[in-house]
Amino acid sequence: MTKQVIIIGAGPGGLASAILLAAAGVRVKIVERLPVVGGRTSSIEADGFKFDLGPTFFLYPRVLEEIFRTAGTTLRDEVPMERLDPQYRIQFGAGGRIDATPNVEQMEREIAALCPADAPGFRRFLTENRTKLGAMAPFLESPFLGWQDLVQARMLKMLPMLRPHQSVDTYLKRFFKDERVRLAFCFQSKYLGMSPFRCPSLFSILSFLEYEYGVFHPIGGCAAVTAGMARVAQRLGVEICLNEPVEEILFAGRRAVGVRTSAGKHHADAVVVNADFARAMEKLVPDNLRRRWTNAKLAKKKYSCSTFMMYLGVEGTFDLPHHTIHISKNYTQNLDEVENQHVLSDDPSFYVQNACVTDPTLAPKGKSALYVLAPVSHQHPNIDWTRERPRFRKLLFEKIAQAGYGDIEKRVRYERVITPADWDSRYEIYRGATFNLAHTLDQMLHLRPHNRFEDLDGMYLVGGGTHPGSGLPVIFESARISSRLLLEDLGMDTNSPLLRSNQPDGSGATAAEKPSLFSTAAQMLGLKSKPTA
Ligand SMILES: Cc1cc2nc3c(=O)[nH]c(=O)nc-3n(C[C@H](O)[C@H](O)[C@H](O)COP(=O)(O)OP(=O)(O)OC[C@H]3O[C@@H](n4cnc5c(N)ncnc54)[C@H](O)[C@@H]3O)c2cc1C
Repeated sequence: MTKQVIIIGAGPGGLASAILLAAAGVRVKIVERLPVVGGRTSSIEADGFKFDLGPTFFLYPRVLEEIFRTAGTTLRDEVPMERLDPQYRIQFGAGGRIDATPNVEQMEREIAALCPADAPGFRRFLTENRTKLGAMAPFLESPFLGWQDLVQARMLKMLPMLRPHQSVDTYLKRFFKDERVRLAFCFQSKYLGMSPFRCPSLFSILSFLEYEYGVFHPIGGCAAVTAGMARVAQRLGVEICLNEPVEEILFAGRRAVGVRTSAGKHHADAVVVNADFARAMEKLVPDNLRRRWTNAKLAKKKYSCSTFMMYLGVEGTFDLPHHTIHISKNYTQNLDEVENQHVLSDDPSFYVQNACVTDPTLAPKGKSALYVLAPVSHQHPNIDWTRERPRFRKLLFEKIAQAGYGDIEKRVRYERVITPADWDSRYEIYRGATFNLAHTLDQMLHLRPHNRFEDLDGMYLVGGGTHPGSGLPVIFESARISSRLLLEDLGMDTNSPLLRSNQPDGSGATAAEKPSLFSTAAQMLGLKSKPTA
C-alpha cells in the first residue's frame, strides 16, 4: 500500500522534501497555514511591485538542481536566473568600499584599493577554502544522530583543519590585515543570523561559495524558486492545502500518526515538520511528550538575530548596485547591541536590494522595488516594537538618504514594514529569530534538533531549525537527509535518485571541473548505492 506523509509547512524545506518523497513513490500532502507557498521565501506583491519577503541571495544552485532532476526537470527550465557581477557592493561606514566580483584579478584590485598588502590573500583564501569545503562535506551531508557520528575517525581527522573553536574573523586574520577586508569575507555569517566574531570559522566557506559558485538572482525573486518548487511538487502528485493551519500533531503513544488542522484530521505514516522548530514544538506537540526539547529547555537555547524590514515601492529608478551592504562605522558595537545588549543601534548596519537594475519585472516602468533589511535583536523585553517602530523606520530613511538614494520618503508609493514582533506573531517564528536557533558549536551537528526527531517516533524535521542549518542550500540538504531517513524507516528503497549528485550546477560548470559538496553522502552513510560520477 502506498505510504502517506504529511508535511507541515510549504517553506523551501517542506517543498524540497515533498519533491524528494513524491519522486520516491510516497503519497505526500503539505498543509500550510498561509494562503501562499514559500514561507519566509515567499513574496509581497502590491500595486505592481514585487518584493522577496526574506531571502534575496540565491547561492549554490547545485543542490536544488539535483533535487529538480529527481523530478525529471531542471532548475533552469523552471526558474531562470542570472549570476550577478558584481555580486554586491560593501560600503564601509569607516570609509571605502568593495564591489565584490568573482573575477580574481579585479577582486585583487578592489582589495588593494583598501589595503595593498591584503590583495595576495584572496587567492590563498580561495585555495584553502576549496580544500576546506571538500573536508566539510561529510559534516553537512550526514544526519548527526549522536556522538558516535561525530567521533568517526574520518571526522576527527578533519577537525584541526576546520578549526571549530576559532571565529570566522580570527580565521580570516591569516589572510587579511585590514578589518574592512575581513568584513567583506565574514559579513556572510549574518546569513546565519550570527556575528562573525562568534560564528565558528568553518563558516568561512559561505563567502567562498559566493566567489566559487556565484550569487544568483532568480528572475521574479527568490520567491520564484519556491513557486517553481510547488509546481514541480504538484506535477508529481503532491497535494498542497493552503490556509489550513495545523493545530496539533496527533500521536499514538509516542508515534506521530497525523495532524489536526482547522479543516479536520489527516492521518499519515509519518509527519515532517517544516514549521519553525521551536514554535512548532511549543504549539503542536504536548510538552510532556518531549524529553530533550521541552518548553523549558527551548527557552534556554540561543537564538539568531531578527530583522527589521522595509519594502518600498518608489517612484524613479536608481543607478546603484543590485545588492549593497552598508556596514556600520562601529561594526563591533553594532553587533554587540544586536546580540548581547539587545538594544537598538543609533548607527545600524543595513542592506538595500535594488533588484530592478537586474530584473524590471519587479516594479512598474519607471519605478523601483527597494528592499531594506537591518539586523536587530530577536524579541527581547528591552525593545518594545510598538514604540520603537516609527523611530527606527525614520532612522533607516535617513541612512538610506545618506547612502545615495536621496530623500526617497516622499517618492514612496507603497510601503510595508515588518518588525521582529511581526515575525513572531504573524509568521509564527519563535522570538522572531528569523534564522532559527543560533549556529553556535553547542547547537550544531548532533546538538541541533535531529532530522529524525529524537524525542518522538515517526516525526522528521526539515528546514533552518534542524541540521545542517539555516540558508537555502543547507535547507535543501536537510530535505535530502530527512527524506532519506524517512524512506529508510518506511522500509522504502533508498537507492532512489535523491542520493545522486554531481549534476551540473547553475553556473554552467561541469561536475568534472568542480568538486561536489554533496556527492559523498551515500558512501559516508555506508549505503549500498553509489552517487553517479
Ligand atoms: C529576512 C530574511 C532574509 C533571508 N535571506 C536569506 C538569503 O538571502 N539567502 C538564504 O539562503 N537564506 C536567507 N534567509 C534564511 C532562509 O533561507 C529562509 O528563511 C527560508 O525560507 C527558511 O526555510 P524553511 O524551510 O526553514 O522554513 P520557512 O520558510 O519558515 O517555512 C515554514 C512554513 O511553515 C508554515 N507553518 C508554520 N506553522 C504552521 C502550522 N501550524 N501549520 C501549517 N503551516 C505552518 C509557515 O507558514 C511557512 O510557510 C533569510 C530569512 C529571512 C527571514
